[in-house]
Amino acid sequence: MARFKELAELFEELEKITSHKEIVRKLAGFFEGLKGNEVRDSAYLFLGSIGPAFENTTLGIKDRLAIRAIAGAYGVPEEEVIRKYAREGDLGDVAFVLSEKREASLTIEDVFERLRQIKEASGKGSQEEKTGLLSDILQKATPEEGKYIVRLVLGRLRLGFGDQFLLEAFSIAFTGDKKHAGKIKESYSVCTDIGKLAKTLAEHGARTPGNFSIKPGRPVKSMLSQRVESFEELEKRVQGKKAAEEKYDGERIQVHKDGDWIKAFSRRLEDITAQYPDIIEAVKKSVTVDKIVLDGEIVAYAELEKDGNRIEKFYPFQRLMQRRRKYEIEKYREKCPVAVFFFDILYLNGESLLKKPYPERRALLEMHVAVQGIVHLARRTITENIEEIEDFFNETVEKGLEGIVVKSMSSGSVYEAGKRSWFWFKWKQEYSEGMRETFDLVVVGSYYGRGRRRGSFGALLCAVLNEEEQRFETLTKVGTGFTEADAEEINSLLSAHIASEAPKNVSIKKGMLPDIFIEPTVVIEVLGSEITNSPGHTAGEGKEETGLALRFPRFLRIRYDRGPYDATTVKEIRDLKDGA
Ligand code: AMP
Repeated sequence: MARFKELAELFEELEKITSHKEIVRKLAGFFEGLKGNEVRDSAYLFLGSIGPAFENTTLGIKDRLAIRAIAGAYGVPEEEVIRKYAREGDLGDVAFVLSEKREASLTIEDVFERLRQIKEASGKGSQEEKTGLLSDILQKATPEEGKYIVRLVLGRLRLGFGDQFLLEAFSIAFTGDKKHAGKIKESYSVCTDIGKLAKTLAEHGARTPGNFSIKPGRPVKSMLSQRVESFEELEKRVQGKKAAEEKYDGERIQVHKDGDWIKAFSRRLEDITAQYPDIIEAVKKSVTVDKIVLDGEIVAYAELEKDGNRIEKFYPFQRLMQRRRKYEIEKYREKCPVAVFFFDILYLNGESLLKKPYPERRALLEMHVAVQGIVHLARRTITENIEEIEDFFNETVEKGLEGIVVKSMSSGSVYEAGKRSWFWFKWKQEYSEGMRETFDLVVVGSYYGRGRRRGSFGALLCAVLNEEEQRFETLTKVGTGFTEADAEEINSLLSAHIASEAPKNVSIKKGMLPDIFIEPTVVIEVLGSEITNSPGHTAGEGKEETGLALRFPRFLRIRYDRGPYDATTVKEIRDLKDGA
């Protein structure tokens, strides 16, 4: 049984290491020494969680309860904990200071089990129960252990790396060679439960990848589309017969049905079932087959009567975001009606459809989903003729939609989970307005505002993801396009992620240092017009190359549905610059 002490010591070490290789090496060494469920549990813990992303793993303890638990554990008044919190800035550090030295006795399993118990305490009296459970384990923990238990409970582990580093470490630890990392990453797109993946790898080694399949209850990573520069490029990329589908501007949804059990997952694999009771009810009516997994987009939508005609109204993404809530769900269901447009089917009665070509999947989709009420199928046109696609695009934009997705109909057009696939191409309205492109950028800093925005931010320092290094590199400063309401919302979002120094997975040039550093968490969509070389930014910077910068950036909206690792990548920016 591995001690929790070893894990806590490794957390401490990892916080300080910046080298990608070194972090992976340390993680691999640690996993090599684990057995059975410890492998699974540690995989979750490194990501600051106690389960896969698609399970609700919030423990239900915020600062107030943690303060009470810490005070109880160490026999000090709550005021003292609050005072120390103000000084240290982190409740884990407060636990460390207050705790007495003792022999380490806890195992990883002890801590993991306790975190689960804290999560599961619910109903009347659960606050006291949760506080008691935390207090009790803190009394058994060493100062170092206490620090990380508190951070884990509050969801503030922040080791500065994500799941990709873990997958690389698994390759070394469980297959003895880093060369299997690519395959393991592919498996992770289908088996998105990192603990389960780790445990299976530990048991079966290099034979594991490829053995995972989609199943109801475990969402796969979404297939994504490529961008193209022009219609000519589209013609080159997708030869022969192709389908152009309407592109709906809302939230990606994966619906899983197993009998009466229906769940919805977001692109970030979060369980969003509770937010959309209307969608769940509608799917129940539209889909009679027993087991199915569907992929689609939810949009804010209404059918209106105008001069005796029925017209469809597609509302902007911002309106849909009102549905992102835990409370007043019924009220907002009325206030902001939605519709779902399914465009793919991934699983049917025990059979994975991921390897079937798109035309076959679409035929099955049409066979098993009845279009009625708020359930629709993505509308499309099939043609070989690029002019017809252009006409379809123009009609689509006319309707108030954002563009089209052109899909290959070739026999190889499988569903590529987790990939920006060369079978799907998006073409948006902005593209037809010259070289204007939208980017999903991660906020890594902010500059104080002047004038009207005094006391709030003036501009945001934004970064792209360097996929190889799993690091965020700055691309641009965004200072325009915000309404007052946007500014307020961004301020409140960012305030929860302020860092005291540059986060170690962010690379910023000296001359670009912001007034406030932000942990890479919040993603915004930005419209920009040109990529240029720039010594001021670090995006794509190499020994021989200067960084790249985005010129004339304009804020469009907050992307609640994207995490930092879903952001635009350095490679995409480079391809755009090279006109690839
Ligand atoms: P973007 O967000 O601009 O990268 O565009 C990709 C997103 O468009 C996908 O992740 C989907 O959520 C969404 N989308 C809307 N309609 C479709 C469609 N018909 N086919 C595929 N993706 C679509």
